[in-house]
Amino acid sequence: AGQNTLLDIRNLDAHYGDFQALYGLSLRVQAGEVVSVIGANGAGKTTLMRSVSGLMRNQAEQVVWKGREIGALRADQIAALGIALVPEGRLLFASLSVEENLIIGGQMKRKGPWTLQRLYRLFPILQERRNVPATALSGGQQQMVAIGRALMSNPELLLMDEISLGLAPVIIKSIYEALPSITGEGLAAVIVEQDIAKALAVSSRVYCLQEGRVSLEGASSEVPRDAISRAYFGV
Ligand code: ATP
Repeated sequence: AGQNTLLDIRNLDAHYGDFQALYGLSLRVQAGEVVSVIGANGAGKTTLMRSVSGLMRNQAEQVVWKGREIGALRADQIAALGIALVPEGRLLFASLSVEENLIIGGQMKRKGPWTLQRLYRLFPILQERRNVPATALSGGQQQMVAIGRALMSNPELLLMDEISLGLAPVIIKSIYEALPSITGEGLAAVIVEQDIAKALAVSSRVYCLQEGRVSLEGASSEVPRDAISRAYFGV
């Protein structure tokens, strides 16, 4: 791994009981880089996100963060290192307000640019609705809270699992328009996305997963579309 490698996933296997979901998967993220992960339902994208976040049981050496083996650490230890997950389905605290959900993300007390004020500038609707229970928001607004909660920990790597799932196109557009101001300051990101065009547009490199394996990887601007279709659908 080069000097600027933040995350280095080496030969990662993952299991749910007897079922193997990932097979020898390797993936790298350089500092400040946006990488996208695409693949059909069940390809293993969420399992990959869960493995990096400390939510799966992995071997220590299978996940390396800035040269340190972190694969066996707990989720809270991983978060403290600066890796934040925006989980599929958002998983907000239902009984808490928008602002309380955001403040929880800041419990880590890591230093960095993200504050409540700055988040409210990015997503002004969240300031308007800051005292409302998070579950009273629309799906798109809830996704903004989930992203905001992750940013409040001032991570160095943001993992975003299917942030557009189930949202209206106009909302997806506004969330994707906010991404450059999120990643603009050198924050690295892994974006899991089923929409291939979106994934390629926001990332410098792309990994395609198929049945728990990397079936294609390359520069987002260079991988041929037909190769992606083959790697994605196996046709
Ligand atoms: P999706 O787009 O549907 O979220 P994905 O690419 O994120 O798909 P995963 O959720 O990582 O895929 O699932 C990978 C494989 O692991 C699938 O075959 C799935 O059925 C299986 N799997 C996921 N979670 C569990 C679980 N808790 N127990 C057993 N098998 C699981």
